[in-house]
Amino acid sequence: MKTLPPGSTIGILGGGQLGRMLSVAAAQLGYRCHIYAPNANSVAAEVSAQFTCAQDDDIASLTRFAESCDVITFEFENVPVDPLHQIASCAPLHPPIAALDIAQNRIAEKVFARDHDGTTAPFAEVSDRASLDIAIADVGAPAILKTIRMGYDGKGQSRIRAGDDLDQHWQAVAQQPCVAEGFVTFSHEFSVILVRGQDGEIRFWNTPHNVHEDGILAISTAPAPDAILDQQDAARALAARMAESMDYVGVLTCEFFATKNGPIFNEMAPRVHNSGHWTIEGAVTSQFENHIRAICGLPLGDTGLAAKKVEMHNLIGAQADHWQTLLSDGANHLHLYGKGESRPGRKMGHVTKLYF
Ligand code: AMP
Repeated sequence: MKTLPPGSTIGILGGGQLGRMLSVAAAQLGYRCHIYAPNANSVAAEVSAQFTCAQDDDIASLTRFAESCDVITFEFENVPVDPLHQIASCAPLHPPIAALDIAQNRIAEKVFARDHDGTTAPFAEVSDRASLDIAIADVGAPAILKTIRMGYDGKGQSRIRAGDDLDQHWQAVAQQPCVAEGFVTFSHEFSVILVRGQDGEIRFWNTPHNVHEDGILAISTAPAPDAILDQQDAARALAARMAESMDYVGVLTCEFFATKNGPIFNEMAPRVHNSGHWTIEGAVTSQFENHIRAICGLPLGDTGLAAKKVEMHNLIGAQADHWQTLLSDGANHLHLYGKGESRPGRKMGHVTKLYF
């Protein structure tokens, strides 16, 4: 295991709030961060030592960036993978490129989970309008049509009810290659958040119960209710098998539905995750700090809960405008991402509260 000493430079691909919180955690441990992102208004770059503003496939800029880093990670899972292979010799990259490759493709991700003995929703590939009919006949309705690539926070999705005109749904996903997923009847949603070190050690955070509104995470709470905890072992074991088979280093998040037939794997994020933001104050070591520790080859920190109960609320769009009211409760830990203009559906910040 190669330990990178404090003072080293950590490269982060992606410039959003996850990069911002990673950079703050890295700074606390004495590291410098170098952000690489295509957008000049990077909320991660604002709190980092260096910033390269360039496109994800600009090999010359990527190479210069990689040569300035001692280790590279990413905070955005839709970074194109081919250019990453080209810079792989410049600096170690964690998590592995293979994890990005799998997570960028909803079908590959489900096949991967099934190959590791996980259960997924029934699904069928939709490559054109004709195959949509076949896919819905196969998985049944209700169903959800999701673009295979680039969807997040409910974007690139269309919910199909029995008897719907499928033409409209095909237009709704812009006629892109999709996966049709049978609708899962679940009691709860939850995520397994783990960190795996370079020596293979795995630690799990407390399993959060996640509530989504309009396809976007709204609230995460830990500890989760028994209906989730009863399924935690099976879900954790699957996430660990997947991490091990990729020789994963860093934080990995897997999202699940709790059903009467056990946990159904929904998707994985090869990175720190919104459902783990509560760990900043609510766990002994946050997901951000442990990700930095893992990729730098440091010992992992304690993932235990720091309170009896922790609750995180996302501040979406105009909800962040109420920051003064939120601050009037001195127990609220307010995080604003510095994004400026609040737009509907945009993640502007979050607030965490601990109960002792
Ligand atoms: P995703 O982008 O796959 O995370 O989907 C966003 C949200 O839509 C999930 O967190 C669920 O609340 C809901 N959802 C996604 N897929 C399904 C499914 N197959 N069955 C029921 N609800 C789903």
